[in-house]
Amino acid sequence: MTEVPTMECDLAIVGRGMAGMAATLFAANRGISAVQVGMIGELIFASGLLDLLAVGWREKGILERDPWAAMDLLSKESPKHPYVRLKREEIETAFEEVVSFLEMQGLPYSSQTGQNTEMITPLGTIKQTYCAPRSMLAGIQALREKAPCLVVDFHGLTDFSGKQISAALQDKWPGIRSARVPFPGNSEKRELVTGDIMAETMELSKNREDLARDIRPLVNDAHAVGIPAVLGMEKNRDILEDLRERIGVPVFEIPTFPVSVPGLRLNNAFVRGLGEKAIKRLGQSRVLQAKEVNGGAFVLTVGRREPEMTLRARGVILATGRFWSRGLVADRKRIREPLFNLPVHQPETREQWHRVDFLDLKGHPVNRAGVDIDDCFRPLDGSEDPAFERLFAAGSILAHQDWKRMKCGSGLAISSAYKAVEAFWKMR
Ligand SMILES: Cc1cc2nc3c(=O)[nH]c(=O)nc-3n(C[C@H](O)[C@H](O)[C@H](O)COP(=O)(O)OP(=O)(O)OC[C@H]3O[C@@H](n4cnc5c(N)ncnc54)[C@H](O)[C@@H]3O)c2cc1C
Repeated sequence: MTEVPTMECDLAIVGRGMAGMAATLFAANRGISAVQVGMIGELIFASGLLDLLAVGWREKGILERDPWAAMDLLSKESPKHPYVRLKREEIETAFEEVVSFLEMQGLPYSSQTGQNTEMITPLGTIKQTYCAPRSMLAGIQALREKAPCLVVDFHGLTDFSGKQISAALQDKWPGIRSARVPFPGNSEKRELVTGDIMAETMELSKNREDLARDIRPLVNDAHAVGIPAVLGMEKNRDILEDLRERIGVPVFEIPTFPVSVPGLRLNNAFVRGLGEKAIKRLGQSRVLQAKEVNGGAFVLTVGRREPEMTLRARGVILATGRFWSRGLVADRKRIREPLFNLPVHQPETREQWHRVDFLDLKGHPVNRAGVDIDDCFRPLDGSEDPAFERLFAAGSILAHQDWKRMKCGSGLAISSAYKAVEAFWKMR
């Protein structure tokens, strides 16, 4: 077998979705010698919202304004949910650390004094979120005040309809209306598909002037104008301000379907900001094999397809996600965790993975499959003991949570990453 170079570190973080990125940030901020490995995560598809928890009691499925009250319900309904192992102060500290890092990277977020806030989705439904990009703030305010508001979409943008949004919200928000305008440079009304190219287009002042010229006569009594979230990649703040001046009222972004520009912004902000810190990132590689060797160190074989490097680490954070990211894999009978062969909490048989009713408020049991953990967020060995002394898990790979239904994706990723890094740090 060909010899490959070896790299040593204290902590290896496997995964570069929200959980892997947050864990890498927490490790870097604590001066831990860390290496992050992983291909791009779900982050680029995500809406950019940082949900904490909006549904506490699944069977009711009610969106809660107070995420902490939802957590109290959760501890009764689902006592093994990973949140039940976290204190409120830990979650708040984790969020603050991530949000202030993003702000320093030019991606400001605003949270509403520890409560969930209502905002509109691209379907025209209302969702509760804990922390939204500041580019969406004027929309949150307009919705709260039910102020007259204009939602704009573009000719050729097939998966975003201002008309659908305003029609769906009419009963709750009679002052909302919509209009369709040409996207700058697309007078032929070609199909617009890639959000990142639209975002780049908006970085040119001439294009913003063209867009503002088309929107200005439509504003009338609107207090704010909502536009699909494609208003620039890195210069989003300046672009919003520029459009506000040109149009005459505040402009806000509305999340779009994937691939999502606010998700790409999040990914880029992490890549940029973590690049400035004293940690190493092996961004285009996977861990192909992992084992613990004598003395409790981990040896990870890293590469794209073939081994390119050996990484030796005293601890590992497994933030490898679920099925799409291959943190969990399923065959016809069982769900497996492929790297450490950890026991996976799952229904007894495949027939029990899904309920008969697709929209059953209880959700589908397969969505709660994952690795069981102890209070230090260490995966268990099938009993109540940790599988390895210094192996931790974070994010959507964790069992007993159903982040899509409970609206807790990023919050769970951030706070479990925080807890895992803190636990490793205390054990050094
Ligand atoms: C369409 C969509 C919309 C979303 N909207 C929201 C929202 O509105 N609000 C919200 O809070 N959250 C939202 N999220 C969820 C959120 O962004 C995260 O995806 C989720 O919290 C899970 O993050 P994760 O880091 O645990 O997993 P993932 O993002 O799945 O990341 C797992 C990572 O592990 C890596 N990996 C797996 N196996 C290996 C290996 N062997 N070696 C190296 N690396 C490996 C993968 O390459 C990937 O980088 C959304 C997600 C999606 C997909």
